[in-house]
Amino acid sequence: MSNTVPACPQCGLENTYPDGDNYVCPDCAHEWPQVAGIDSDEAASDGVVRDANGNPLQDGDSVILVKDLKVKGSSSTLKKGTKIKSIRLVDGADGHNVDCKTDLGSLFLKSEFLKKA
Ligand SMILES: [Zn+2]
Repeated sequence: MSNTVPACPQCGLENTYPDGDNYVCPDCAHEWPQVAGIDSDEAASDGVVRDANGNPLQDGDSVILVKDLKVKGSSSTLKKGTKIKSIRLVDGADGHNVDCKTDLGSLFLKSEFLKKA
């Protein structure tokens, strides 16, 4: 068995051992649950805006459209492959979380339709 039993959080000694769902310290009789660190799978609600590939986006990034997008209220379409420079992240309605300056003006787009350039 590898040396994965942590030292006792109470007295700091390392004579600890796992016992059922707990670790036990024989020196001070402290017991604590064997919980595995922090859940690393809580991406969605951490406030990070991610592109189509799951990469985090930041203000000032350049992005490329990964699909054709119809521009609301016009007959124009933003073409897949269009490069947009210097995006700004916003907390827009309906998941429109990226403010983009395009040839068609300033538009709010969803980060899931963009990828980092
Ligand atoms: Zn202890």
